Amino acid sequence: MSERRLDPRIIAIRERMKTIDKVLLIASGKGGVGKSIFSVSTALAYADKGLRAGILDLDLHGPVVPMILGVHDRMPSESREGLIPPKVYGVEMMSLALFVESSPLPLRLGSKAEAILELLAITRWSNLDRLIVDLPPGTGDEMLTTTRLLRDKAFAIVMTTPSKVAVATVKRLIALLRELRINILGLVENMSRLTQGKVELEIFRGTSIRELAKESGIEYLGDIPIDPTLESAIGNPRLIMRTKFFLQVSKIVDKIEKLIASHSTTPSP
Ligand code: ADP
Ligand code: MG
Repeated sequence: MSERRLDPRIIAIRERMKTIDKVLLIASGKGGVGKSIFSVSTALAYADKGLRAGILDLDLHGPVVPMILGVHDRMPSESREGLIPPKVYGVEMMSLALFVESSPLPLRLGSKAEAILELLAITRWSNLDRLIVDLPPGTGDEMLTTTRLLRDKAFAIVMTTPSKVAVATVKRLIALLRELRINILGLVENMSRLTQGKVELEIFRGTSIRELAKESGIEYLGDIPIDPTLESAIGNPRLIMRTKFFLQVSKIVDKIEKLIASHSTTPSP
């Protein structure tokens, strides 16, 4: 750790982060719970509400943010002060997907943690109210690196489905975030129900995420039902913003903002 402190990139990252008011780390214990689509929709919802938002895709194994936004080919522009993220529907976007394999942009990919460090050090965000970070799932090295680097102004939002498997991993994640002294803003439940006309199907029975939130002393931010129209909207932000999924995300964002406002002072580093 003391060795890390001397890394000039860490100093650069501290400097870069000065233009950002708050960072929202979207975390999950496992993959496939809807973290990426939620992260993108959250950033779009902020922009829709008139706030300056950015999205940072740090999921090395599945960097799908450009795909969800429908902009695989939009590269950041290079300037002397760093890489300037492209703006999509009012949202500044940076993704590790832009730096893999065939990408013309060089990035030293020695390790996953290195790649994240590098990307944070070279990206020049403008003044942003909220930077949404789509974290890799789980409690691995990349997650630790990111939270350590962004801790000062970060809040975590934990996502899960009510499946037993997801819940088991989410408990571990909450414990780790606490150990890392990250402020956990709340828990979002996804894909628990499906409504078809007047019929409501409960997909997973047994685990109550609301209860889990209560037991863990964490705010329950709401649940997002399965929206069958979402799949065909992927790749088109305009369509995403017309879904019921998005409507629910937008309500959750209002709740997030109320909670941020109630934390009048930022957590001490
Ligand atoms: P993660 O990032 O956690 O791995 P994704 O955001 O990639 O998960 O979501 C996995 C898949 O599930 C995607 O195809 C996504 O569109 C879909 N999905 C997630 N939440 C919902 C929902 N509430 N309704 C319908 N589809 C959903
Ligand atoms: Mg993902």
